[in-house]
This record gives sequence, C-alpha cells and structure tokens, in this order.
Amino acid sequence: MKWKGRRSSDNVNRGGSGGRIAGGIGGVGLIIMLLLAYISGQNPLEVLMDNVGSGGLTPQTTQQEEYVARNEEERELEEFLSVVLADTEDVWHDIFKQHGAEYREPKLTLYQNSTNTGCGFASANMGPFYCSADETIYIDVSFAKQLRSTFAAEGDFAFAYVLAHEVGHHVQKLIGTLQEVQSLKGQLSKTEFNKVMVMLELQADYYSGVFAHYVKNKGYLEAGDVEEGMAAASGVGDDRIQEMQGGRANPDTFQHGTSKQRQEWFVRGLEYGDLEHGNTFNSKELQ
Ligand SMILES: [Zn+2]
Repeated sequence: MKWKGRRSSDNVNRGGSGGRIAGGIGGVGLIIMLLLAYISGQNPLEVLMDNVGSGGLTPQTTQQEEYVARNEEERELEEFLSVVLADTEDVWHDIFKQHGAEYREPKLTLYQNSTNTGCGFASANMGPFYCSADETIYIDVSFAKQLRSTFAAEGDFAFAYVLAHEVGHHVQKLIGTLQEVQSLKGQLSKTEFNKVMVMLELQADYYSGVFAHYVKNKGYLEAGDVEEGMAAASGVGDDRIQEMQGGRANPDTFQHGTSKQRQEWFVRGLEYGDLEHGNTFNSKELQ
C-alpha cells in the first residue's frame, strides 16, 4: 500500500509498556475470566467486549511507562497504522455524510505488553481489539510479529485489514448494531448467540473491505495488497485458530466465521464499498 508522505491521524495514543501484569482484584479477575473463556471455548476478546455492556471491568490504576517505539520497524508500523487510521476516517466520514449522519472518530492506542483500557486491563496475546466504552482500538505492537509468524499473513496490507476490521466494530457501535447484539446475550442459547457473533464479526470484515474499496479508488493499493488482505482475513478464521489450539473445529463455537466466510465478506466489501451490501444479519447462508 502506498502510504509514505500521506496524512496521518491525530487520534493515535501511546499506552503502557509495562512488562508485568499488575496485581489487584481487577487484574486477577480479568485473568480468571479470560481463563474461563478459554475453557468454555469463548473468544476472550468478546468476553472483554461483553463486559463493556455490563459496566466494564474494574479500571486499573497501575503506574505504567508510556510505550515508545524501540526500533525502526516499530516506528514504521506506528506511522503506517496512523496513515491507515486517517484513511478509515476519510472513508467513514464520507459514508456517514452520504447517510446524513456524522462520523465520530475512534482512538487508536498502541502499547507493549500491557495497558489500562476503558474495558479494564489488557495484556498482550489478546490480539487487537475494540473497546466500545472508550471508543478506542488497542493494538499491541508485538502483534505485528505474531501476525506474520502465527497467522502466516505477510505484508503491510494485512495490518491495514486488521485495523480496518476493528474500526468496523466502532462503526457498528455508532450505528447501534453492537448494542443490539449485546442486548441479545442472555436471550439466546449459546449456539444461537454464537451465530449472531459470527454475523457481527463478518460484518466488520465487510467494513474492512469497504476501506479497501476506498483506498483502491484513491490509487493507494499496490499489486498484492488485496491478496494480503484476503490472506489475513482467512488466516484469522476461527476454524484455523481452533485447530491450531489442538481442538477440532466446532462450528457452534465459531465467533468470527470460517476462513472462507471471512474472505468472502471482505471481498464483498471491496466490491461494493457501501453500507447496504454488508447486512450479514440478513444473510440466508449464516442463519
Ligand atoms: Zn472482530
């Protein structure tokens, strides 16, 4: 993706770089909760997100050093993500305006190892996530390396895809979809709720495709970018992750969709570039 010398976003913050998980009930409680989530086959990120709806986790007030890029690679990543975030601002301002609404920009916090968030304490290994309580996307910079080695996703556009997916969750919050889905929790069986979660996640993939549509039209895409985005989409499919964790893929516990579904919705967003074709909740295939 062509990104050097372009506008970068003002919404990028630096979070913690603390190497240790802080003590305190909130921190321990979170760890236990994430552990339970793993045991019950739930995605810990969604557990964290769910807790936003019920008042959030206990905020931690630990002393943390601010994260500072330690080498050229991290500085580049930071710059790159700032430009991608700026692109997402442009595309969603446009689309919201077309619908007579105003887009409120999310924040992006980069951190190393662990940081305090509006949704409680976050530690690395959690992968990037969106916290709706403070409308902030959290990315652990070491995730970049993890994405390369673990998910076999190469290239800069893979990171753009991931950030645009998280921005997609912010769009869902502004539209109200996130809140609707959260209100269904407790009303549906676990299997049914998982299906709805898959629709939510695939819609964020679609929105990531909408971002790709926009940067393509602007002439910012380079050869191989779309393939990188698709590889990232398929590389983080739930089926793949579950199989890597040693268990067999069980569709009832998929919360992000299969690799194939994630690719398909990303490509659909890339093709249409609008809000209208991204209604995963009406998709017969996903019912
Ligand atoms: Zn997601």
